[in-house]
Amino acid sequence: MRRAGRRGSRFPPRRSNLAGMNAPHPAPIPFLDLNAQQARIGPKLRERMDAVLAHGQFVLGPEVAELEGRLAAFCGASHCVSVSSGTDALQIALMAEGVGRGDAVFLPAFTYTATAEVPLLLGATPVFVDVDPRTFQMDLTSLRGRIAGVKKAGRLRPRAIIGVDLFGQPADWAGLREIAAREKLFTLDDCAQSFGASLAGRRLGREADATAVSFFPSKPLGAYGDGGALFTESAERAALYRSLRTHGEGTARYEVLRIGMNGRLDTLQAAVLLAKLDVFEAEILRRDAIAAIYDAGLHDILEIPRRVPQSRSAWAVYAILLPDEVLRDAALGGLKAAGIGCAVYYPRPLHHQPAYAESHDRASLPVSERLGSRIMALPIHPDLTELQAKRVVTVLRATLEG
Ligand SMILES: *Cc1c(COP(=O)(O)O)cnc(C)c1O
Repeated sequence: MRRAGRRGSRFPPRRSNLAGMNAPHPAPIPFLDLNAQQARIGPKLRERMDAVLAHGQFVLGPEVAELEGRLAAFCGASHCVSVSSGTDALQIALMAEGVGRGDAVFLPAFTYTATAEVPLLLGATPVFVDVDPRTFQMDLTSLRGRIAGVKKAGRLRPRAIIGVDLFGQPADWAGLREIAAREKLFTLDDCAQSFGASLAGRRLGREADATAVSFFPSKPLGAYGDGGALFTESAERAALYRSLRTHGEGTARYEVLRIGMNGRLDTLQAAVLLAKLDVFEAEILRRDAIAAIYDAGLHDILEIPRRVPQSRSAWAVYAILLPDEVLRDAALGGLKAAGIGCAVYYPRPLHHQPAYAESHDRASLPVSERLGSRIMALPIHPDLTELQAKRVVTVLRATLEG
């Protein structure tokens, strides 16, 4: 997910797509095209940013509170506290619970590094859990086994579950909540990739005790820099998050109640997000239409994304599975040769990363270990045209069938 948009100027000038899909040198198709989005909503963006330049309240200006209200309303959460990044949102949520040394935090092995980095920064131990082979979301059977293992070993205290809504789809929150309630664990939704998605008819934001969202530029709702937000139904937690994001301050100025951090969202980023929020729902529908084109064009030759039941994806990533590494690498090579952006999330599960080897207990997590050699992501963004999506299908089919 850490891939900001490339500048269009790196490529030859775009020709008309109507020139035909079999033109000798069709225009490249970028993996993400933030410039196209900027051209589409430019006047609104500039108006919002100019307002901040005019009033000059660059930290906790009026746009920050306005955005928090709009985001809470958008997902139906009682409280929204904006913060400086998705990673800081995760950290503040765990700091507020006092998670630290001796605590086991259960999280999927197949996710972005930030999910596991945060418990370690606080002195806690990430316990890696395997994922479902078709939805890539945390596997409940593996989770139950890992919790039982930690209890049996008796070295760590089970403390929290971080459920990750991977690639734009929700994790199995009904199942995760049931396990957390039985084991008395805090639930944190790492919704960095999936704000805007819904589960059982309601938008993500209140599935767990706290929900962390990222506004990194390439996420479904992206700022022009780092940003994030926390959602919760608890007024006490929301008050703690506000204190923690400003150095643990109390209600009086320069009263310091606890160790916090500098974790606020910039007013300029709030202004950018307000402009983008106006078109966000329409953009999710555009991504959905692109996914439908890929589904129809590819389902008979490879594994298309399996939908989580009763959900709607925010389509941060459209991930396909090839039978093996040779075919996956051929598909990557074919697309790259045709100038089509593609990526691999994630080539290596976290428990096999050098940084996490020491904290991992050596358990094997076979699904997470195999996915990295079979998975790849196709371009999916709101400014991808139907013709471009069809060309991706054509090139991929030609590569795999040719
Ligand atoms: C992007 C991401 C984060 C971190 O968000 P930042 O805003 O980049 O700090 C955390 N978890 C997951 C799953 C992510 O994809």
